[in-house]
Formats: sequence, structure tokens, C-alpha cells
Amino acid sequence: MYSNTFSLKDVVLLDGPFKHARDLNIQTLLKYDTDRLLATYLKEAGLPEKASLYPNWEGLDGHVTGHYLSALAMNYASTGNQECKELMEYMILELKACQDANGINHPEWGEGYAGGVPDSETIWSNLRKGNFDAYRSAWVPWYNVHKMYAGLRDAWYYAENEDAKDIFLKFCDWGINITSDLTEEQMQSMLDTEHGGMNEIFADAYRISGDEKYLTAARRFSHRMLLDTMSSGTDNLDNKHANTQVPKATGFQRIAELSGDSKYADAGRFFWETVTKNRSLAFGGNSRREHFPPESEYIDFINEVQGPESCNSHNMLRLTEHLFRTDPSAKYSDYYERTMLNHILSTQHPEHGGYVYFTPARPRHYRVYSAPNEAMWCCVGSGMENHGKYNQFIYTHVRDSLFLNLFVASELNWAKKDILLRQETNFPYEEFTRLIITKGSSQFVLMIRYPSWVKDGDLKITVNGNPVSFNEHPSSYISIDRKWKEGDEVLVTFPMHTSVEQLPNIPDYLAFFHGPVLLGAKTGTEDLKGLIADDSRWGHIASGERLPVDEAPAIINTNKNDITEMIIPVQDKPLIFTLPSSVLNSGDDMILEPFYRIHDSRYIIYWKILTNGK
Ligand SMILES: [Zn+2]
Repeated sequence: MYSNTFSLKDVVLLDGPFKHARDLNIQTLLKYDTDRLLATYLKEAGLPEKASLYPNWEGLDGHVTGHYLSALAMNYASTGNQECKELMEYMILELKACQDANGINHPEWGEGYAGGVPDSETIWSNLRKGNFDAYRSAWVPWYNVHKMYAGLRDAWYYAENEDAKDIFLKFCDWGINITSDLTEEQMQSMLDTEHGGMNEIFADAYRISGDEKYLTAARRFSHRMLLDTMSSGTDNLDNKHANTQVPKATGFQRIAELSGDSKYADAGRFFWETVTKNRSLAFGGNSRREHFPPESEYIDFINEVQGPESCNSHNMLRLTEHLFRTDPSAKYSDYYERTMLNHILSTQHPEHGGYVYFTPARPRHYRVYSAPNEAMWCCVGSGMENHGKYNQFIYTHVRDSLFLNLFVASELNWAKKDILLRQETNFPYEEFTRLIITKGSSQFVLMIRYPSWVKDGDLKITVNGNPVSFNEHPSSYISIDRKWKEGDEVLVTFPMHTSVEQLPNIPDYLAFFHGPVLLGAKTGTEDLKGLIADDSRWGHIASGERLPVDEAPAIINTNKNDITEMIIPVQDKPLIFTLPSSVLNSGDDMILEPFYRIHDSRYIIYWKILTNGK
């Protein structure tokens, strides 16, 4: 399925922040009510519901269910958790019953359908005839069903559930049939509405089955508004809804990977380049009020409380995984690390496990969290998945090469080589990682990532205590080709330094990093209204008082070259720094710490830089 990827069960997380997040997330998942998640699927299939529908985000009922299925599959694959397995198998049985019932109860349009979109009958029976009225007045039907497509695919891929594959392919056939009478023009008109990664789904069906009809469908579901511009290197993203676009690009890249089509490859690559280089904040996220701002409006990131949305980063990481498969360049793993560490990890509350929707960059604002069974947001759905796949990208392989992409404590079972390998590290709290071959012996090339955040010449590698010489520079991979044997030990030392990064297009707002870690400062806990969101439609937006931006602490500096020297490491507390009052325009010393650890608090991540006292 994914040629460079190890099974989740073959990469075991060891103690650290990612394992903590994964384990907590399993507990969170088990608090949800599977029958309530399934209720809309039964209802639309004409079967009796076993529990009441979730009331929140009505109209998009069922979207979280697909994510939930993906999450159960991933966590079962990673940990062997039997409750996850049983819930997943129960859901698949119920979904199969729904699919069968749809064929019987809705012969006109429902053969193979396994969706839960409210009022499915009106939407799909009309869409089939080219009448999009009900489709357009509903809340993003293809987006909704895309989540269940992905859930079924994941239950097959991660958890090897063959029934899920069967339901998935029949559901794909439904998707082809329901659109078979639509002209190309009608298809493109239909794709003007958010539709998730439907093109990726059909590409995956092609990969699974080998049947070309799915590849044809993948192209038919590719939105030319984005494909044509991105493939020609034109960024037309201004004012577009961000998370509508990212999954389309993910599908472009997947089609390119499986078909070799260069137009799709150009589109996937350019989309990633322009979003990560021109449109992303320090923690890897993008969008304000869910949209990509035009260049002239980037100051909105400072003013707006609806900062980057978690779903976007979830999907950007998926696109990054796909791109890395055809081009294993360190720029992709650098972005992956930055976003996984500073955004994705930060979007889970480390105690109650709630998920975050928006991460505002507005100084002295805050984030709100979901509660189980209440806030059925899109970012709850993608959040359910996020913390179950931290082990997916730590290692990848290409033939006889093993890529060490991420510095996360873990054990890898490379079954094909009969190699067991252990990575011991307390990164990012320490500046090295140790790889130990704990079993087996085999010739292979170890590709070690030279992170972009290490200064040129600072990275050191030893094998069994002997220094390895290399000519590579930051943001590359260093290859070590040898016959590895049990007991071999590789020590990679990556000194971190402090750096700053400006808000895109807004040079007088800077964020601090230490190594890859975005630093933030807590600024207070006043009026954290809705901190744990209720069931209301807009509960995902932190609606407490907006403290005046122009009264937020700012840094006085006349020479930006020495700005990193203004922050002072706190002894024996890795990644903690003091921002002394002497460089601030008012107030006391402030403490900088990893942003991903800041919760239940107002914070600053972008600092206004005052020059000449202004
Ligand atoms: Zn979202």
C-alpha cells in the first residue's frame, strides 16, 4: 500500500511525550459511544438506530465515525489493544449491515452505499441525475463520506480487516456509479464543494485492486481549479478554504505516485512548496478563519482568534508522507518534525485528552478543547487519528536503505532484514539519540537525517565510538553503508541553538525556536471562557475576552542580529528560557517554554519587535 512504510505494529513507541499522547488518546477514544457514532448510518440505511444521534454539528452527522474507525485501527495495530479491535470489528459488522440494507432499501441509488450523510436519499438520487440542489444545500456530503471511505481503507490497511476492504471497494463502486452519468463539466461543478480527499480514495482503491477504473475515477474526482494552477506553478490559494484544498493535493500526489503522471506530481509538489514556504506559521499550521489569507492580510494572524486549524496540519503531514515516498528529501522530514512536535502534539490536552480546533497566534489569546461525546468537530475527527500514528514516520525504508527520520524513542522490527533496532532518546530535552542493533545482522544503508535546525558542521555521528566522517549539510541525509550486527551502537549528536523566524509577510513579529522546538510564554489565565467546549455550534472558537494586541508584551530591540541572545537558558531546565524584563517594553521577566506544553493558559508565540522604542 505504502511502499516505504513499516507496519505500525513493527514500530513500538517507548516512554516519552508521544507515547504518553498515544496512550491517553486511546483512553479518550474509548469514552465515545460507538452506537451513537453509527446511528446516522443505520438511519439512512433504513435500519433501527441503537442509540441517539450526536446533536452537535448536525448536518455533518457521521463524519467523525470514519475518523474513529481509522483511529481504532491504528491503535489496535500499534498496541494490540483488544477493546479497539472489538469496537472496530463491531463497527465493520454494522457498516456491512448498512451497506447491504442500502442496496435493498434504496435500489435506485444505494447499491454499495456505506455513508451516513443526513438525507442521503434526496442528495444522492438527485446528484445522480445532475441535480445538485440538495447536494449544495447540505453540509459537504462528499467530505462526510470521504471520512468513512478512509476509515474502511485504514481498517483494512492498518488492522488487516478483509471485510473492511470488501465494504470499501463496494463503496468505491457506488461512488463511480452515482457519478457515472455526470459530464466532466458537471463533475467539476460538483467538486466546487468541499469533498475531502475523494481522489486519493479512488487512487487507493486502484492500488488495492489493480483495477484501472478506480484510477480513472481518481482523475475524475480531481478538481481542475487546483490541479491546473498548481501543476503550472501558480499559487491561486488566496482566500480559499484551506482544508478544502490540502486533501485535493494529497490525492494529486497519490495519483502521481501510482500512475507516474507528471502533471499530478507537479501539482502535489508545488502545493506543498507554496503552503510550507509562504503560507505556514512557525508551528507548521496554516489558515486564519479557516482560509488562506492574501499576502496583504497576514497581520490577521496577529488579530484573529481563529488561527490555524488542526485538520490542515493533519492533512499536510499526510501529503508530506506521500511526497517523501517518491522523493525522500530531508525538507519533507524537517517539516514533518516541526509540525508533529509543535502543532499536532500540542492539540491534545495532556491530562483530559481533549482536542483543539484553532491555534491562535494572537498574542495573549488561548485555545479551547473538546470533551468526549460533546464537540463533534472536524478537528476532533482528525485529532482522534493524529495521536495514533506517531510511530508511522520515525523510520521508512527504500530497498536496502533504512531512513531515520525522527528522533523518537522507539523500537523497530525490520522483519525483512531480521533486524531489531532500538532508538533511545529523551529528545527534544537532550541533544542526542542512540541507535542500538538489538538483534540480527545484515548489510544495509542507514540514512540519518541531518536536521535543518543544526548548524552546518555541528552534527556528530559515531558508530561503536568511532567518528563517522561525512560531507553533508543541514537538511539532508547521511548514509552509512555497512554490515550491521547485534550490539552495534550509533550515537547521533545534534546540538541545538536558538533561532527566530518571522511571521510570513510581517517582519516585525518573530517567533523563537530552540532547535526544532517552538517556544511560547504563558501570559495569564483570565477569562478562559469555554475552555472545555460545550455542545454549541461555535464552541470550538475561544470566545473569551480579546486582550488588546497593542498592550501585549513586546521586545525592544534595535539590532535583530543579536535577538537570540536576549533569551537566557534556565540552568538544569532544558528548553526553558528567561526573557528578561530589560528587553521587554513593560512588566516582569517572562518564561519561554515549549509551546506544545502550554495548555489552559493565554500565551504568546509571536512577539512584536519594537525598534527605536516604537
Ligand atoms: Zn478541522
